[in-house]
Amino acid sequence: MKIGVLALQGDFDQHRKALARVRLAGEPVESVEIRKTEQLDEIDGLIIPGGESTTLLKLMGDWGFVPALEKFHAAGKPIFGTCAGLILLAKEVDRPKQFAFGFIDVDVERNAYGRQRESFATPGVVELDAPRPLEMVFIRAPRIRRAGPGVTVMARHRDEPVMAREGTILVAAFHPELTHDPGVHEYFCRMVARRRTALPPA
Ligand code: GLN
Repeated sequence: MKIGVLALQGDFDQHRKALARVRLAGEPVESVEIRKTEQLDEIDGLIIPGGESTTLLKLMGDWGFVPALEKFHAAGKPIFGTCAGLILLAKEVDRPKQFAFGFIDVDVERNAYGRQRESFATPGVVELDAPRPLEMVFIRAPRIRRAGPGVTVMARHRDEPVMAREGTILVAAFHPELTHDPGVHEYFCRMVARRRTALPPA
């Protein structure tokens, strides 16, 4: 099993470090930086990191990633988006409005946690396969303003959803790659592993 981290812009290196701490049944997980669409064929799941969603979108457009990711998603391969990655995977994006893939039925508002509090860390609890305490780091984070009925909310901050899953799509408004706990990455790898065994061989 191999996990790709989209490495066009943003904190992809931290995600690779988090993946390096993951153990699935005692085994490490292989990861690779993705810069070309052809590489998507080699991986079983993809992480879209935080960064600047407008810049990421531009680079993805330049390098043909929009149709390539639509194909990747249609093939049932899981995608995990953090912060800017969440913004890209959402259905509607506000402030300002911009293109999003619409792979998960949530609407987000960019940079919506207020100026003075652009970045903060707070203790929280995430519902992985069991509830787990986790420090949640928010950096100019988007706010999930709406989550559709098919979406499972996995963590909240002040009663608002900050982590969610729908089918093969996992999103977080915060940055689990910036804490030492690899729990969220481990959860995503389990999603990918389960999906992989469920898919017919290529
Ligand atoms: N504010 C950024 C955006 O709107 C996201 C910030 C992040 O990914 N840490 O794209």
